[in-house]
Amino acid sequence: MKVLIPGLILLITLSGCYKGKRVDIIVHNADIHVLNDAMDKASAMAIADGEIIEVGPERAILNKYHAPQLLNAEQKDVLPGLHDAHTHIMALAKQRLILDLTATKSYEAMLRKVKKHASNSTSSVVYGRGWDQSLWPESAMPDNRKLNQLFPNTPVALERVDGHTMLVNQAMLSLAQIDTATHVEGGEVITDQQGALTGILMDHAIDLIQPHLPQPSPTEIKEQLMILQRELFALGITNIHEAGLSHRDLNILQEMAQSDQLQLNVYGMLFPSEDNIAFAEEQGYYENGPLSIRSFKIVADGSLGSHGACMIDPYTDTSTHGFLLKSPTEIKRIFGIGKSLDYQVNSHCIGDSTNRLVLKIIDSLMSDQPDHRWRIEHAQIVHPDDFELFNSSNVIPSVQPTHATTDQRWAENRIGKNRLENGGYAYRSLHKQTGMLLFGTDFPVESFNPFATIHSAVQRKNTEDQPSDGFLPAESVSLSTTLKAMTLWAAFGSFQGHKSGSLQKGKDATFIILDQPLNSSSTYVPNYAAQTYIKGERVYNMDL
Ligand SMILES: [Zn+2]
Repeated sequence: MKVLIPGLILLITLSGCYKGKRVDIIVHNADIHVLNDAMDKASAMAIADGEIIEVGPERAILNKYHAPQLLNAEQKDVLPGLHDAHTHIMALAKQRLILDLTATKSYEAMLRKVKKHASNSTSSVVYGRGWDQSLWPESAMPDNRKLNQLFPNTPVALERVDGHTMLVNQAMLSLAQIDTATHVEGGEVITDQQGALTGILMDHAIDLIQPHLPQPSPTEIKEQLMILQRELFALGITNIHEAGLSHRDLNILQEMAQSDQLQLNVYGMLFPSEDNIAFAEEQGYYENGPLSIRSFKIVADGSLGSHGACMIDPYTDTSTHGFLLKSPTEIKRIFGIGKSLDYQVNSHCIGDSTNRLVLKIIDSLMSDQPDHRWRIEHAQIVHPDDFELFNSSNVIPSVQPTHATTDQRWAENRIGKNRLENGGYAYRSLHKQTGMLLFGTDFPVESFNPFATIHSAVQRKNTEDQPSDGFLPAESVSLSTTLKAMTLWAAFGSFQGHKSGSLQKGKDATFIILDQPLNSSSTYVPNYAAQTYIKGERVYNMDL
């Protein structure tokens, strides 16, 4: 008898475990947001070989399947892994290897940081990034006079948070052979009223400095990317759309995908350099595990914060219009290459003039291919007459809700009330035209916190709940639109809809379990991923 009893217990346990079809994981007791068009909900999900086998009611799934791993979600929200549809992870990896100037509160405070950094550094050049003059009491664009006094001989380059403006000292200007006669197509070397150089360089003028800046090694960059992908998983982001890859950065990501270091799904947009175009011609639609490439990125104008976005009428606080970074002829040339290679082209357009130009070109060029999925990144200021061009041209707007709630402090100064209220950060109006939006953060310009994006999109407030009535609240969108913009539509807009973006049969089992209940209340509540899975494999657990 002593031998038989344990045997009997074992038999009962085994028969209990082995009813139904075997899968690898069953997620149950969950509040599953399927994120299909109908926004269905479910409570259980069966997963095998990294794919979703079935999603449905608790009893139905538990009766039909058995699995060695039963994952009790304790009624928490389960969502498809989130996409950030506009990122610069390579820039953030590099920024973490230089002097970080984000959130610096004044010009003087920035100088103190620069001085301290330089005294501890062995580099012959001082290089920092992240300042934003709109956070300073003086709020005017700085010049390099004090920087020249502090650093008469050491070249210093300090990039603005948006990457569209750089402050450099005279030693750096001399090193790069920039003087008042320097002229750069698609860029500006700013001078003061006396015609003297201020040390401010905009857009393509920054290219003259690049060769003189320290370049981190691929190994250093890879180390930072490994840290960053874990930070993204902790916030539930499993997919990013990297908005502009140089050939060198493309090679780094390819090596990481090849050696299985890359777990994060990266959809890369290539800068249209000669070597990248040659890559596209050779590879076509490139896929290597989590890395996929089928698009070009063009930067058509600058940023509103730097007065570089190209506007139909002049800025309200200057007499300038901003400028294009590429001529219409060059834009058409790249669009032609994209079309001939069946590559998507994603255009950075901030100003209303740029949006109009690019929309009109796409409207005529792609009229024979309605499902081209070409995107406008930012679509920040759109002329009221041009919204319907999004509909007629089938262009997908890819926008960043946190830009609205960051820029709300100064956007009206730049373009005035009328333009702001009739086409500024107009996500509801864009959605109405296209039936689709993609949401991203543009990190490191903003933080990559997707819950800040949700709050900005739905409540039109930042994480400090400012402004208290919401910024242009008529342009807010619903929580379901927001979630689709971060999952279902983002997957469609990156040609990954067959495997990503919703929790449906046959798609990758890439999902997150949220720590706190998903909400869109008027007060910001921080949230995180409790667990993150990619293709059925747990890549993050907040308890470990
Ligand atoms: Zn960007």
